[in-house]
Amino acid sequence: MSTSVTSSTKIDNGSIKSPVWTTIKFDVPGIQTDFARVPYSSNTSAYGWIPVPMVCLNGDKGGPTALLTAGTHGDEYEGQVALRKLIHELAKTELQGRVIILPALNQPAVKVGRRNSPIDGGNLNRLFPGSLSDGPTAAIAHYVTSELFSLADLVIDLHSGGTSLDYLPMTLAHPGRNESEAGAIRRLLQCFGAPYSAVTNGSGGGGGSTLYAAAEQRGIAAITTELGSGSTLSETGLSIAESGIRHVLRDFGIAPAIEVSAKPTTRFVRFLERNGTIYAPCDGLFESFVKPGQRVLVGEKAGLIHRFDDVLAAPTELKFAEAGIVAFRRFPTLTATGDALFGLVTEVAE
Ligand SMILES: [Zn+2]
Repeated sequence: MSTSVTSSTKIDNGSIKSPVWTTIKFDVPGIQTDFARVPYSSNTSAYGWIPVPMVCLNGDKGGPTALLTAGTHGDEYEGQVALRKLIHELAKTELQGRVIILPALNQPAVKVGRRNSPIDGGNLNRLFPGSLSDGPTAAIAHYVTSELFSLADLVIDLHSGGTSLDYLPMTLAHPGRNESEAGAIRRLLQCFGAPYSAVTNGSGGGGGSTLYAAAEQRGIAAITTELGSGSTLSETGLSIAESGIRHVLRDFGIAPAIEVSAKPTTRFVRFLERNGTIYAPCDGLFESFVKPGQRVLVGEKAGLIHRFDDVLAAPTELKFAEAGIVAFRRFPTLTATGDALFGLVTEVAE
């Protein structure tokens, strides 16, 4: 199977110009819909492209631009649905700025309901800033980095726990490269108003290879979310996504007239990194004793793993090495050595 994207050309600043193209003209006022068209030569389509849906709503009043993405992982639904609903809402709302929405950023993964692309196996949120030599998924990342980031004043990439994780609803952000960027990111977290907000370096997750990390490295105020679990649509998570985006678009002067619910407040937390994470020490069936949001103590029992290889042996007991709040737990019962079973956060001073 070819993973060739297409030939590429250098642009003036020495970087490689993206071969991904669209009919959308971002500076034109009004609503335009098309695709980010990702050239891909396959066995069944020699000269075709992969369609990644994209909408640009431009109020032409000189206000800031929000870049909103979801479906970066195809099995996470709250963001996908929230952005699809938002497009209809914004179409009848007067805008002072511009909103660029891609509700299914890894469209091939979205269409099969999987985290990674069925075309090249690419995990889009581990391929930033992207490249043109690693298949179409990396080419999507490269397009976002090289073309869309330059248009954006703020970036929100909506994620959820997906197939494997049950997550406490929260926003996450990298810290920013200096005090002023840190302040802009903190403002974005507060405006979004998820129940919890974590400033993190992404270790344990995607580190610097995620969309929001790549945006932060270019000086853009960027956040991501975790809003649900188990590859279904959480009503609570959807409502947090819709409310958060509305507050951001209103407070940043992009859609000043958009309706919002009561102002939410967020609790700032930090991840307890490796010591706060419990990984499966063996294969087996995972039995959890605690839920996301629950406070736990050092030494508290977290759960059991019932081993496959010796039914007479006592189940393997899991205990927390630190005290904290459960941020996530593994969703599927079936587990294998190395799976992340629990992660903890702890509250930090405002
Ligand atoms: Zn995700």
